[in-house]
Parts: sequence; C-alpha cells; structure tokens
Amino acid sequence: MSASTLFGTYARSGLEFDRGEGVWLVTGDGRRFLDCGSGIAVNSVGHSHPHLVAALTEQASKLWHTSNLHTPAGGEKLGQRLTEATFADKVFFTNSGAEAMEASIKAARRYHYDHGHPERFHILTFEGAFHGRTIATIAAGGQAKYLEGFGPKAPGFDQIPFTDIEAVKKAVGPQTAAICIEPVQGEGGIREIPVDFLRQLRKLCDDEGILLILDEIQTGVGRTGKLFAHEWAGITPDIMAIAKGIGGGFPLGACLATEAVASCMVPGTHGTTYGGNPLAMAVGNAVLDIILADGFLEGVQAKGLLLKQKLAALVDTHPKVVSDVRGKGLLLGLKCVVPVGEFVAKAREHGLLAVPAGDNVVRIIPPLTISEEEIDEALVRLDAAASAIEKTMSDEGATV
Ligand SMILES: *Cc1c(COP(=O)(O)O)cnc(C)c1O
Repeated sequence: MSASTLFGTYARSGLEFDRGEGVWLVTGDGRRFLDCGSGIAVNSVGHSHPHLVAALTEQASKLWHTSNLHTPAGGEKLGQRLTEATFADKVFFTNSGAEAMEASIKAARRYHYDHGHPERFHILTFEGAFHGRTIATIAAGGQAKYLEGFGPKAPGFDQIPFTDIEAVKKAVGPQTAAICIEPVQGEGGIREIPVDFLRQLRKLCDDEGILLILDEIQTGVGRTGKLFAHEWAGITPDIMAIAKGIGGGFPLGACLATEAVASCMVPGTHGTTYGGNPLAMAVGNAVLDIILADGFLEGVQAKGLLLKQKLAALVDTHPKVVSDVRGKGLLLGLKCVVPVGEFVAKAREHGLLAVPAGDNVVRIIPPLTISEEEIDEALVRLDAAASAIEKTMSDEGATV
C-alpha cells in the first residue's frame, strides 16, 4: 500500500522538486535534472523566469480576483495581443486545456444552433487524438482507455482515421458541426498532420459550411517555431483551443474564435469563476512579452533543427534503443525500440526528464529558452541513458 494521500491517477516518479532554474529542476537534496518535458509542454520559458516571477508577484500584491462580472485586470490587453497575432476576433479565457476545448465545442454547437441547425452538433475527431479528461473531451478523444468505466460516451463525437481525407468526406453529414484536430498529435506520439491534409480539411469545412476547430493546447505558443502550428500550413481555423505554454506554468487556457462564432456566445451561454483571473492574465502577458520578442521564434526554429539533428545522430548510434525522430521546432519525439517507460526511467537516472507519449514515443520538449549548450548537455545524458540500456541488453544476452 502506498502512503500517498493523492489519488493514484499517475504512476509518479517519486521525485519531489524544490525549485526550478531555467531548464533545470532541483530536488530538496540538491540533485539537478535537465527538464526536457517542460512539465508537459507547459514551462515554455523555463522555470522561475525572472520576467514571469516579477509579473506574478507584482500582480499578487495588487489584486487577485474580481469575478467575471467585471472586466478582469489585464484581460483586454492579453485578448488584444492574442487576437492581433492570430485569426481570432474574440477570446474566452479558461484555467486549463480541457476547459478551452469545452468552450470550443460549445461555441461550435451554438453557432449552428443560432443558424437554425440545432441538429448539427456532431464533431469529427481523429484516431489517436487527445483533447482532455473531462466527460466531453474524453468522448472527443475517443480513446477506449480513457473512456472505460465512466458511463456512456457523450454523444456527438465521431472518430475517423488519421489523414484519410476520403474517410473525412464520407463522415461529414447533415449532423456535422465541426472537425477538430491537433496539428501535431502530442499525447498520440508527436504525430505530425501533413500540411496538405490540414489544407484539405479547411477546404472541406468551407465547402460544407462547417467549422474547423484546432486543438493547439500542446502545439501552440511557439512550441513548433511558429506562434501557432497551423501557420506552417498557411490556414486558419474558426475556433482554437490553447493552454499549456501560454501560462508558462500558471494555469491558463483560452478559446479563440472568429467574430461569426464568438457572437453566438451571448450572456448566459457560458462562464467560469476563475478563467481570466488577474494573476493568470499578468503571467500570460509576460509569456507573450518573451515569445513575441523579435527573433525569439526564429531561435526556436534554429534550436529545434539543431536538437533534431542531434537526436537523429543518437538514433544512428543506438538503433537497438531508438529508431526514429519526429516533430517540429521544440516539439520532438523519439520513437523507442525498447519500451518507452524503460527509456524515460533510464534518462531520469541520468538526470534528464522527458515525457512518454503514445506510439512508444518519448517526447523531448524542453523549454523554448533552452540554450545550445544545454541541448548538448541533454544529448550527453540521452546518450548515456541509451548506452546503459544497451549494456543491460548485452549483459542479458551474455547470461543466455
Ligand atoms: C494537455 C492537452 C489537453 C488537456 O489540457 P489540460 O490542461 O490537461 O486540461 C488537451 N489537448 C491537448 C492537445 C493537450 O496536449
């Protein structure tokens, strides 16, 4: 029996960190770990970034909460910056990714309801998708392992095969409200959606009068080297869910939408107690100060290429351990030959934190502020972990 008072919903590492410094996490007894998981794609500018600490503490000494019955301090500013930088005209702030998805689903359904089509409430999603852990978002993700034991799957979500445009066309019907997709599947194993497929989805949505929802909760806010990953495809959605990186570690998410969609969300249709909280707005604005600064995203692209090349070399050196590199910018994945859990545990023994994903892939998703020297250090540790796994293999081989 574990002595933990916490729900056993995670297979935790047993590590408890005391503080963070940039890309480093430090335990109470002084052990240092290179954080190549950024939490899970959250600490976009690293741990304890002085600009974020200053923004949060300054706001904390002034005002914490006023409710959404008033204009939240910093909310208009963050909303304006997000709409100026994207396709969106309006923003709804939330505390998490799943809530950003919930707002996106509700807005898509309400749009069709307002246009005289209440029967259009179905949302097409893709196999391998992950959209969150609420009752609606597990239905949207459609994965049996997340649905099992939680009652009937919420109606109105249909999964279709990944990248098969003919299957998508066939699945669109008079009940379809929207198509929802992650530009790169994160939890699904850093599976990139081809840009052509995203363009075909955009065209299909336009032809059919349905909405395109992008889940950029993991891919957004600079992670792929563009502010949002859909920019690589040169398309825009009607609705976009964001979270993770925009808060840099403070709980913050948002649903972004066009005027046509947002105008359907009138008083009473949706709400949140904490969403858009002044503390979150202060941090969100501070994160954008850094990510929107001149040259920052170009830097992410350059560092992403460098890291990807070095990971490819790791694959060449250790083909019995890892077999492939995938992803864009600093959203990278290593396909493992050994079980991904074994690789992640071994990397942790060598002082590097990475995050397992589906498809036996380990995510290498460091803070966007990682330096080239720290990328080198990450490779030293990954190489040591892979060598240690090979050593166990040959020891086992020798005893046979
Ligand atoms: C993390 C994630 C979510 C869920 O976000 P939470 O903040 O955990 O609710 C949804 N979609 C994607 C693509 C994610 O990566």
